[in-house]
Amino acid sequence: MPVSSVVTRFAPSPTGTLHIGSARTALFNWLFTRRHGGQFLLRVEDTDKERSTEASTQAIYRGLEWLGLDFDGQPISQAANSKRHAEVAHAMLDAGHAYKCFATQDEIAAFRDVAHAEKNSTLFRSTWRDVADCDHPDSPYVVRLKAPRDGQTVIKDQVQGDVTIRNDQLDDMVLLRSDSTPVYMLAVVVDDHDMGVTHVIRGDDHLNNAARQIQIYIAMGWDLPVYAHIPLIHGPDGKKMSKRHGATGVEEYQALGYSAAGMRNYLARLGWSHGDDEFFTDSQAQSWFDLEHIGKSPSRFDFKKLANVSGQHIAQTENAALLHELQGYLAATAAPTLNDAQKLAFLKGVYCVKDRAKTMAELLEKSAFMLNARPLDFDQKAKQTLDIVSIGILIELTPQLQNVIWNREALEALVGILAESHNTKLGKLAAPLRAALSGRVVSPSVFDMMLVLGRDETIARLNDIS
Ligand code: GLU
Repeated sequence: MPVSSVVTRFAPSPTGTLHIGSARTALFNWLFTRRHGGQFLLRVEDTDKERSTEASTQAIYRGLEWLGLDFDGQPISQAANSKRHAEVAHAMLDAGHAYKCFATQDEIAAFRDVAHAEKNSTLFRSTWRDVADCDHPDSPYVVRLKAPRDGQTVIKDQVQGDVTIRNDQLDDMVLLRSDSTPVYMLAVVVDDHDMGVTHVIRGDDHLNNAARQIQIYIAMGWDLPVYAHIPLIHGPDGKKMSKRHGATGVEEYQALGYSAAGMRNYLARLGWSHGDDEFFTDSQAQSWFDLEHIGKSPSRFDFKKLANVSGQHIAQTENAALLHELQGYLAATAAPTLNDAQKLAFLKGVYCVKDRAKTMAELLEKSAFMLNARPLDFDQKAKQTLDIVSIGILIELTPQLQNVIWNREALEALVGILAESHNTKLGKLAAPLRAALSGRVVSPSVFDMMLVLGRDETIARLNDIS
């Protein structure tokens, strides 16, 4: 197959938040598709009217957008295709690959009770499978697939290997309900076929579905897609990732401040590997990603690793892009937006904080000195640092700052000489200076802060404490 003909899809059900596991499925599809120059499509599986919500659909869009997983074309609504799904069921009926089943719910329940009591398979075996049309009653029916009962079905899975299922374990699944509405299993296959999907990359909770879905492809004479069923994500304790472990929705991760690039990198590494590489860029991931190196066993989510990778990406991100991401973070946490002066200050000063922030939350915290306007709020420790003696030295320093050349070398020399004249170390003087300039006891270096704040603001802050 020419590589450019790759078509994948991400097919979330809009019934809640965009789960982190689903986001990783989307990411794998996206990486694989971008590597092969194909089409990555989004299909919203909204056939479950009771559970699907518009709010959840919007959350899917927002989650994908934050993660930078751009899809091709317009999103496709599965519910909008229901006519076509029914049409295919009728084609199967006409071709003898499906049949009308008139069994009532009570009859099916009775069949199961007997099978249970006799310790037989409870797979429903309809008595209508081979009944001719002329013998059909005029009563409600469902359309069932005439599934093969002999032989076996092999799912040639790129991750799981060959998975063989005995056909006598397949039931004649319902394709159309008695009200003529198509079932989800049929909708997936018809949509995948109609969308030209060549590779189905999805969670391995759908592996069993694949065996049944394949029967529809065979009945319709359609080409099978390549399957890759990827293991689930587990929490640090090895159990299925859930709220107990922490955040599960993609938007929660944004609100926690992880960088989107870091998230992509970490999620790609979670379940897929490229040698020992832990940190990589998008273009590296796009040129390396393959199905062969997806692991077979569930991976464990490690929040510490995520934070580390996120931090490495923050350090590498261009300042303007960081500002953009910070604004997204502020919006996600419903925090006030930055004004123009704050944006400029951030662009000027972020160089001295970006190497040490693992998340946007930390980046914001470390940037406080440049974003906060005078008069500063001093935290308790900073207040304690500013004792009478320290303030006295800072008062001495202030007029000297008026004429010094405003560069690192000159400032270091000036503060150094002042420290010496008081028989103290530069570090001792740096503490109250830090408190005066930032209101905190932890901040970037005092010289970085002075350079970022500029002469006037530095002097004004020193005057505020005297
Ligand atoms: N809608 C399904 C889900 O959200 C995915 C179906 C598929 O990928 O075939 O789990």
